[in-house]
Amino acid sequence: MNHKEALQHIIFKYLADASTDVGIESYVIGGYVRDFLLNRGDAKDIDLVAIGSGIELANRVSKILPNNPKVKIFKTYGTAMLRYEDLEIEFVGARKESYNEDSRNPIVEDGTLEDDQNRRDFTINALALSLNKNNYGDLLDPFNGLSDLQNGIIRTPLDPDVTYSDDPLRMMRAIRFATQLNFTIESSSLNAIAKNKERIKIITKERIVVELNKILESNKPSVGFKLLEKTGLLELILPELTALKGIDEKEGQRHKDNFYHTLEVVDNISKTTDNLWLRWAALLHDIGKSPTKKFHDKIGWTFHGHEFVGSKMVYKLFKRLRMPLNEKMKFVQKMVLMSSRPIVLATDVTDSAVRRLVFDAGDYVDDLMTLCEADITTKNPQRFKKYHNNFKIVRDKIIEVEERDHVRNFQPPVSGEEIMKTFNLKPSREIGIIKEAIKEAILEGEIPNEYEPAFKLMIEKGKSLGLKPEA
Ligand code: ATP
Repeated sequence: MNHKEALQHIIFKYLADASTDVGIESYVIGGYVRDFLLNRGDAKDIDLVAIGSGIELANRVSKILPNNPKVKIFKTYGTAMLRYEDLEIEFVGARKESYNEDSRNPIVEDGTLEDDQNRRDFTINALALSLNKNNYGDLLDPFNGLSDLQNGIIRTPLDPDVTYSDDPLRMMRAIRFATQLNFTIESSSLNAIAKNKERIKIITKERIVVELNKILESNKPSVGFKLLEKTGLLELILPELTALKGIDEKEGQRHKDNFYHTLEVVDNISKTTDNLWLRWAALLHDIGKSPTKKFHDKIGWTFHGHEFVGSKMVYKLFKRLRMPLNEKMKFVQKMVLMSSRPIVLATDVTDSAVRRLVFDAGDYVDDLMTLCEADITTKNPQRFKKYHNNFKIVRDKIIEVEERDHVRNFQPPVSGEEIMKTFNLKPSREIGIIKEAIKEAILEGEIPNEYEPAFKLMIEKGKSLGLKPEA
């Protein structure tokens, strides 16, 4: 893609004119240039470097734009932002940075374009397009970012050891870009990440999670998790996952490597859903396997109760990473807790088991099926086909049972109040027993999910408990 075409939008004319008006050189830099050259669709965020005051330039741009958009000023950073149509334009004065040992926030001075390019994280993010009269549209590429872009390489402009140590968030960003763009992290960079991994501790959990989410939202998240593992970062961020690594062998019995299995499941599910939280569920569905792993003489390796243990671990993990402890977390917990349920069904599909599954999973039953399908990682083609076919049968049966029995978001056909009225009861244990008997009978298929038969069963059950219906 010819870089001159990157500046076709009318906004660049306004930006250039405003620069001339105030006598401040300006350049489009970073993600916008990178994504344009990669043909990654039209980026909506434009980063502008001003060789001088970004705020002054932004104010001038606003003045000459037809709708005079509001300029938002961030005093602490000396930056400004305005919106034009669907574009968001950030104005930053060119800076020169130096760093302290214990903070990723640098000491900042005014600088030249070169200073500003030097402080960028990767060569592919340091590409700048001139908006100035004398060289409008020229690509300023002091670190051969264009060739790295063409060859798919993540490289830092300066010494990687210094770059990553200065701002360790860049380690996460390197791995995230490698995953999103399917690029290779150049080896001295990869070594520097491994060397500086402990520095990740000065980065806030929130920022780490932003990058983890971007990795998970990529087409093939395993690329990122393998890099995180290889550099030692994963052990520091998500030790629950690295604990799944390895294959134990005892008396000739081996279990699969649950770490690599997990990554396959995540890649599989990423082909069928964009739901970030379902992808998190895939990532965490087996974390309970490490603490529950046991070897038994006759049966071999077991992971009894790993789903329950795993769902408890989800809460701790979300809390530690300062992730939301709301319904998203509960969703992931539920998926992990129920992750083995449909597997039993895949060999023997009965109506009552399907009703129970729908009853327990509620609205999440489709997501649960998607997770279980992604969990099929067998390399045996016959088995692969068989398991998928069986899940197809389960899915069909879910629809059939749903149409007939309506057990999703189950509401008991006879209410507690009606039971109390019928037997003239005060709130008591018996009401619970009767309600449970009705629910069980419906799930087992002994009675349909309807009022009349449920009422009849209530009378029978009440009598068996020694209760007398009111006349
Ligand atoms: P994306 O929108 O996919 O996150 P981006 O490159 O636009 O990609 P931003 O976080 O918006 O990402 O950053 C804009 C630009 O600022 C980058 O292209 C890069 O030049 C620079 N940058 C961002 N974060 C850092 C950092 N931690 N260290 C150095 N430069 C950075």
